[in-house]
Amino acid sequence: MSEVVPCVSVRIHGAAGEVTGSCYEVTTPHAHLLVDFGMFQGGTEQEMRNTKAPEIDFASLDAVLVTHAHIDHCGRLGMLPGLGFQGPVLSTEPTAELLPRVLTSSATLQQLRIQENRAGTSPSSRVLAPAHLASAIPIRSEPPPILFTHRNAERVARALRAIPFMEWESIAEGVEMRFLHASHVIGAASIELRVQRTNGMEPARVLFSGDVGPMENPLLAPHQWSDCAPDLLVMESTNGARKFPQVDQYQLLVEILKEAKAKNQRVLAPVFALGRAQTILQLLARASRDGVLQGMPVYLDSAMAVRASELYARHPNLLEVSLHHSCMRGTNPLHFPELHTLMSRRESESIDRIKTACVIMAGSGFCDAGPILRHVKLAIDQPDTRILFTGHQLDGLLGHGLLHGATRVEINGAALDVNAKIDRIAGISGHGDADDLLAWVKRMPGSPKTIALVHGAVEAREEFAAILRQNVSSDVRLPSLGDSLHVN
Ligand SMILES: [Zn+2]
Repeated sequence: MSEVVPCVSVRIHGAAGEVTGSCYEVTTPHAHLLVDFGMFQGGTEQEMRNTKAPEIDFASLDAVLVTHAHIDHCGRLGMLPGLGFQGPVLSTEPTAELLPRVLTSSATLQQLRIQENRAGTSPSSRVLAPAHLASAIPIRSEPPPILFTHRNAERVARALRAIPFMEWESIAEGVEMRFLHASHVIGAASIELRVQRTNGMEPARVLFSGDVGPMENPLLAPHQWSDCAPDLLVMESTNGARKFPQVDQYQLLVEILKEAKAKNQRVLAPVFALGRAQTILQLLARASRDGVLQGMPVYLDSAMAVRASELYARHPNLLEVSLHHSCMRGTNPLHFPELHTLMSRRESESIDRIKTACVIMAGSGFCDAGPILRHVKLAIDQPDTRILFTGHQLDGLLGHGLLHGATRVEINGAALDVNAKIDRIAGISGHGDADDLLAWVKRMPGSPKTIALVHGAVEAREEFAAILRQNVSSDVRLPSLGDSLHVN
């Protein structure tokens, strides 16, 4: 009996039982594609995995498709020229605008971290007390190996082609693709493939979810769904075991801002440049309109976050309806009179001695590197400082320790008492929770035949698999690294 050649095969090269390193290889009888080429993140061991390219014949790829501009989905694109790929890189328009900057600044950061390591100035931090949180040695951000140069980042930038949302694009013989809005960050998309079957039957459909935003996103337009349930859905499960608390984040922020203003406190907010920064800016813009800020300056200390924020206003059709209307009236919904943007190290240092009430938003979101670490070091021992966490903090890093009651810390070699007030606003995420993810699947016109859960920690995807099995008739799989899934 002759072997049946699958119509589509999808091989998992990353994000299998973990939340970074998204990379999926698609093979059809006539085409060879890659969906996402993200970095593994989360410490030196993970970062070392980035140096080992997956076993893919990159030169034979017809195209590389990118869901969005987060590093765990796009961070290794700069390696493509070095691996022999010469074809087009397809993304949505906002992602194509962001990617050149993301890749060149990644190349810069890779070099900088090597230089800092040589000079012994790599950022480091650890908790000293209480004992149960203390770490014996400082967490130093060790330099990852250089993955690609500026030159190769620029070559990838030149290979970018932007495709409008919802428009089918022929990308190889018998294969079309389109981007569906994923309501995650600006430009983020799910990717749908339509592959001709040789037996004349209906084309096969494969859907890659990318990262799926919450069902009610305060910042972005709702998701787009296909008119056809996929044969295979490759789906993220980051928050598959989580349900967000029902809290009024805006009211919590207003209380913090009012108290900070009354007590002349500085509010330091660690944020990521794409997604979290804009969510907080939108809340602050509302606070400005409601007269809460009343002149209290807000500093956005991240050139990348500033550029990403500008993109939101340039794509009003992708925004939540009230923000869309605000753009149509000529008002940037992420801008307000109290906002000051800091675009360089020099500008960042210009606010080091500020003693009046203000908000300083800066990266990294994990509070372990970048300008926020300098701001925290300067102010953490002072009782007129607040540190506001709005996102998940990785166990072992400074942000996690501060959230869990650290009383003394070491930052870049200096031991400091924690006299700052630690605030937290929960439930702000660019990812949907378990209810959102299930609702997203159930809004499809039918159950996918197979759902392969990826991009989730082991428990998250196991728990979400159980939820799916109770609610949809799909065959739910949890593929391992290197596994292939087939559509006949
Ligand atoms: Zn993402």
